[in-house]
Amino acid sequence: MSSRRDFIRQTAGMTIACATGTAASLLGTPSTPASQAANSEAGWYDRPMRWAQIAFTEDDPGNYDPKFWLDYLKRLHVDAVTLSAGGVVAFYPTQIPMHYRSKWLGDRDSFGDLAKSCRALGMNVVARTDAHACHQDVYDAHPDWIAVDEHGNKRKHPSDADYWITCALGPYNFEFMTLVTEEIVTKYMPDGIFTNRWAGSGMCYCEHCVENFHDFSRMDLPRTRDPHDPARRQYVVWHQTRLFELWRLWNDGIRKINPNASYIANAGGGALSELDMKTIGELAPTLFADRQGRSGLTPLWAAGKNGKEYRATMGKKAIAAITSVGVEDRNRWKDSVQSDAEIRLWMTDGMAQGLRPWFTKFNAKVIDKRWMPTVEEIYKWHFANEAYLRNDRPLARIGLVYSQQTAVFYGGESAQAKVEDAALGFYQALVEARIPFEMVHDRLLDRDHISQFKTLILPNIAALSTEQCAQVQQFVERGGSVVATFETSLFDEWGTRRTDFALASMFGVHYGGKTEGPMLNSYLSLNKDPDTGKYHPLLDGFEDSVRIINGANQVTVLPDGTGAYPLQVVPSYPDLPMEEVFVREGTHGQVGAVVRQAGKGRVVYLPGDIDRTFWETLNFDQSKLLRNAVVWATDEAAPLTVEGPGVLDVSIWTQKHSMTAHLVNLTNPMMMKGPVRELIPVGKQDVSITLPPDKHAKRVHLLVAGRDAKYTSQGGVIRLEVPSILAHEVVAIDFA
Ligand SMILES: [Zn+2]
Repeated sequence: MSSRRDFIRQTAGMTIACATGTAASLLGTPSTPASQAANSEAGWYDRPMRWAQIAFTEDDPGNYDPKFWLDYLKRLHVDAVTLSAGGVVAFYPTQIPMHYRSKWLGDRDSFGDLAKSCRALGMNVVARTDAHACHQDVYDAHPDWIAVDEHGNKRKHPSDADYWITCALGPYNFEFMTLVTEEIVTKYMPDGIFTNRWAGSGMCYCEHCVENFHDFSRMDLPRTRDPHDPARRQYVVWHQTRLFELWRLWNDGIRKINPNASYIANAGGGALSELDMKTIGELAPTLFADRQGRSGLTPLWAAGKNGKEYRATMGKKAIAAITSVGVEDRNRWKDSVQSDAEIRLWMTDGMAQGLRPWFTKFNAKVIDKRWMPTVEEIYKWHFANEAYLRNDRPLARIGLVYSQQTAVFYGGESAQAKVEDAALGFYQALVEARIPFEMVHDRLLDRDHISQFKTLILPNIAALSTEQCAQVQQFVERGGSVVATFETSLFDEWGTRRTDFALASMFGVHYGGKTEGPMLNSYLSLNKDPDTGKYHPLLDGFEDSVRIINGANQVTVLPDGTGAYPLQVVPSYPDLPMEEVFVREGTHGQVGAVVRQAGKGRVVYLPGDIDRTFWETLNFDQSKLLRNAVVWATDEAAPLTVEGPGVLDVSIWTQKHSMTAHLVNLTNPMMMKGPVRELIPVGKQDVSITLPPDKHAKRVHLLVAGRDAKYTSQGGVIRLEVPSILAHEVVAIDFA
């Protein structure tokens, strides 16, 4: 993923908003006044469909060709740009003392001139600032503005010895960067200010942080990341509060000068992201998902996952996906070029999941231009099909819940392994099953936010408040279904273990007192229904099998007798020496799955961490089991089915006068670790799309193939064949 995030993750850890005090007040930093929230709905923010970012290097002024860029942006139908203005380096004639001007600037105004030209081409212009570093003169004048490490040393910039790392929570941001922000807005009236690395570079022990934290909590700054440490808990709360204060300070300052502009933070993400997404969703008029590309083991669908995570709290507000045209890697080849196929699939998967494309180029003097025709082709297609990409809403009926509080207060330093990996496993299983789904934020489980869903999936959402659990219960009482795994609801919102699952009656089990694992060589044997002699639908496709592998960890459970138990655990038995690898007589394990009818809804509870284990093993049986759990729980015809070979990431949307189904072809040996070398076509796919009630199809066409499709229509269901998909196909249905 993006190196920015890695940087922050390595240095900052993960935090989330929680108020101090009682459980009842946990969920919330101060909420946004309605007027402010309403303001952010209006404005220009939904207009731009295609974004570009030109991030200047210090030597760009006078050395790059603005005409080259303007021609390119115009050809691509770019309708908004983000251009570097100030902060670390000023690219305009600033009057603020110690606001470092590019040595190449002279009497130029590189930001102002390019902004003006882009405006003349009808683009929205957002000014980019960077707040994370400063030069020696700032250090000399204000040594207290510099970030301090845990040993009390002021922090040198790790990659450039001319710079110091600034403290995000003290006067550098609250005073100096506020002046910079207001000067840029006054002088140029941009549509917004987008600040890179505004939220700090990890724990800071400077005099301001020490004092401000003490005023807040009467405690010293924590020296541990243990979420059970009282100072750490208070720090999590204070850090969030301080950053949202800064956000509001900058936003208010901007809006006083230009009411049509906003502060747009570089913020947001999934369970592991640092700022509370619910508050972000209230504050931000638009957001840019800064996951520039893949590095290490990252599946191609991670691009679309960003879109779903942001949409969970942003709703219909526009979200763009920042894509780097270069290699994203910890070795930081910032002037490199990524392969054509990798750029194409990364951008396409984001678009399929509702993100607007944005390409970013650092250094306006382009060294290697190979990326340019690729991005041009993608943007031209996007422009030509814009009406079908301006989505109204997703029609997915499945919601995969994510929980920042579970990551912070239950996962702690092991949040990736204990929390995110379960979500990634379930995500992969849903992609393999070609089930369209959205993501749901655990602080938005109220009726309005989840009424579009038939089924909620809780992939080890361990830390939930009583109120959140009540919301899940109410969802089921209204006819919703739930699939949950492992320690879901066994902890409160602070990560403190309960004596029983808060959702015990829904799961049909009580907590048996232990969490076991890692378990070697444990299985799930498949139980036939004693009445029918057949397997439960949870075991569809397993007719030729008698057992499958278990998860590597499980919660011990005591069933309350209200469910059926299609799976039985075969406890671990020796895996070595080979002579000892046999099941001992008389060993009986606990239930491996509970399926039950709960009012009008259905519940599947898996005591094992099947989803997390699946992410580790990618075992084919576990994929099928997770899929079956969702299909059985949902118990209705899917709005979209796609049958055929390969791995496709799918989505289904409505627009004003149409609906679309995206099929992104991820079938590739580089699906899990890029870059993709070549696009490999998959063969025929049989597609069924259920029309929304009261809608009729006037025309069915394929937006990538660029032709009408033959289809049949029966009982509100459109059926067609897509003969082949290279990277992407979009089935578009125009409403009569
Ligand atoms: Zn500080």
